[in-house]
Amino acid sequence: MLEVSTALDIVFRFAEPLPPQAASLDAGALGQFVAEDVAADIDSPPFTKALMDGYAIRAGDAGPRIIVDELPAGKRPTIAVRVGEAIRIFTGAMMPDGADAVVMQERCERTGGTVIIADSGLTAGKNALPRGAEMAAGEIVVPSGSAVTPALLGLLAGIGRTSAKLYPRPRVGVLATGNELVGPTQLPTDGQIRNTNGPMLLAQAARLGGIPHDFGIGPDDGPALKQAIQRAFDSSDVLLLAGGVSVGDFDLVPGVLASLGVEIHFHKVRMKPGKPLLFGTLGRKLVFGLPGNPGSAFVGFELFVAPAIRAMLGHVDVGPRVRMRTLTHDLKANHDRPTYHPALVDEARVTALPWIGSFDLRSLARVNAFVVLPAGPVAFAAGTAVNTLILEP
Ligand code: AMP
Ligand code: MG
Repeated sequence: MLEVSTALDIVFRFAEPLPPQAASLDAGALGQFVAEDVAADIDSPPFTKALMDGYAIRAGDAGPRIIVDELPAGKRPTIAVRVGEAIRIFTGAMMPDGADAVVMQERCERTGGTVIIADSGLTAGKNALPRGAEMAAGEIVVPSGSAVTPALLGLLAGIGRTSAKLYPRPRVGVLATGNELVGPTQLPTDGQIRNTNGPMLLAQAARLGGIPHDFGIGPDDGPALKQAIQRAFDSSDVLLLAGGVSVGDFDLVPGVLASLGVEIHFHKVRMKPGKPLLFGTLGRKLVFGLPGNPGSAFVGFELFVAPAIRAMLGHVDVGPRVRMRTLTHDLKANHDRPTYHPALVDEARVTALPWIGSFDLRSLARVNAFVVLPAGPVAFAAGTAVNTLILEP
């Protein structure tokens, strides 16, 4: 059976960013990545500017100075500063011709129309930011691959950009399968249960930056399931199927996928929960068949789908995020496969939580991590560092 890391390598062979598209640069683009080199259209700052409230002067010009003008930010200077003169200036204002430094107002004494400067040894350039000091027109300031962050949006606005080519968010379709499933507003009768995987997986996809698309519930019936899967494929870049992927008589997903021409790259991974996980491709589209138990579907998503979505978005650090954390308690286990046990982490420590099985969504709803336990008998003492899969905040 495939190890998790080998299976993940296979997923990465197929999870590639979608063709870049022009997108507006606003908060809706947070978490996406820039797919072009973006150059500055102007120098920044576009003029030599005052960095302090004070007086613009010629450095090295001694004695009291006559104040000849006032320059708030946003005003164009009309006169130059000559020897023996100063211009009252404010932070962000254009430096006037002739002046090469700003004296902070705290270091000046003003009497009427004259100012005496207490700051000795003021050198040229002091408290004035030269035009182009941050960037020059034509310089590439946002290289392709940059993450869209609030500061990057500010930077792009500063160089006059309202749109740029970004790697698009993958459309992530979710189809739950199973004759027993009903929607959340229905009261289950006669062996029915509510579809919990659908809302959970849609939200996991959205948290990662994908565009979730709910395809509802598909039945355990070959032709009808095939139709539902075909329809879901049509408007998905990544398709998540939950349930029906195991070896029971009503686990029809693998056969239906094969009949649709899906190339199945693996089916079963050496892990617990979630062993019967399936991964395939249809052209450039990815499909994951996740086992129906919510714990299995959840872990399968975090281990394989989340890294795939990150890779498609253009992330470099695609994960999964496995880090060492120190156990707060003794932990004994004996599993036949590497096991992902629900846990709570903080900066340094991890606590495994009681868990009664892969159907146990109630425990899962509290966790922010999984302790990764190796197969076979293990006995970790409190204080031992263990591998921990940490979820997105
Ligand atoms: P399966 O993988 O289809 O064999 O399903 C395994 C278990 O998960 C069964 O007990 C199913 O009833 C349950 N299950 C399957 N799909 C869902 C779902 N969407 N929501 C909640 N439970 C499910
Ligand atoms: Mg089923």
